[in-house]
Amino acid sequence: MSLVDVHNLKVHFPVRRNRFGPATAYVKAVDGLSFSIERGETLGLVGESGSGKTTVGRSLLRAIDPTAGTIHYHLGNQSIDLTSLQGRALRKFRKHIQMIFQDPYSSLNPRMTVRDIIAEPLVANDLARGAALDEQIRETARRCKLNLEHLRRFPHAFSGGQRQRIGIARALVSNPEFIVCDESVSALDVSIQAEIINLLMDLQRELSLTYLFIAHDLSVVAHISNRVAVMYLGQLVELAPTKKIFYSPKHPYTEALLSAIPEVDPDLKLEPANLKGEIPNPADPPTGCRFHTRCPYAEAKCRSEVPAWRQLAEDHHVACHFSEELGLKGMEVPTQRAGS
Ligand code: SF4
Repeated sequence: MSLVDVHNLKVHFPVRRNRFGPATAYVKAVDGLSFSIERGETLGLVGESGSGKTTVGRSLLRAIDPTAGTIHYHLGNQSIDLTSLQGRALRKFRKHIQMIFQDPYSSLNPRMTVRDIIAEPLVANDLARGAALDEQIRETARRCKLNLEHLRRFPHAFSGGQRQRIGIARALVSNPEFIVCDESVSALDVSIQAEIINLLMDLQRELSLTYLFIAHDLSVVAHISNRVAVMYLGQLVELAPTKKIFYSPKHPYTEALLSAIPEVDPDLKLEPANLKGEIPNPADPPTGCRFHTRCPYAEAKCRSEVPAWRQLAEDHHVACHFSEELGLKGMEVPTQRAGS
């Protein structure tokens, strides 16, 4: 059963010559995404920088107002379209959805103690006071394996991994159902990344959390995700269970992203040069298939016809004219978790 249903989500940012002038173009950061996130699952969202994945995450929190589309949350027996909420109703709803940010250094206010940082969502929304507030802070800190003595200190006294635990505690303290993890381990050392990912997985089991896990690195996504959605230039190009994405990708862009992580299987000879050039300008995307300017398999049809978002199998969607014929190369799944 899905917790979040996104339908035809679009986020277009106007480009103006001056602040009050008319829009001369639109940057189509997100351009017609439809997908669901099942209750209790982790959906990985991957793509290069500039693909629009952070904009999707922020839209799901209504930190950005979508240009079009709907975002339905199914909480209890209610179905709420987040795009229709405004003012107080939106603020009240925000306790159900939280975000863990990328940079554990800049995302914490250096003038606030750890206690006050964790307390912020409860205080701002008047969700707890006095002894109940303190107890909720301590319980959340314990869950995130933070030393309670550290609650009185300031963020500068902590390492990157500890700061990210503080960020996780702040996201968890209001008991949300859904958390967007936006490149939440990208700024950390590899050994610390594993610690934080294991903590997120433990918390998910304990608290029945649902995650959208945004990353540019497919190997990180594989470790935590049940399914993976691959995004290119504002659109989804492939969505499937993690194992299928790694073993048998059906989109050339997914194959190219896999080729960038040779350590997963050193015997597999995939050319990293598969992916040439830069991601095109989202204000002026290529005609036909948006990937055709970089795709090694592109044919004339790719330049003129937009590939449909279609279902290859019950759990596998792709947007490529030639998915069945290409025989793309995959890799081995590097984790036990990535088998669902
Ligand atoms: Fe490549 Fe054509 Fe498929 Fe696009 S539609 S990914 S250009 S083969």
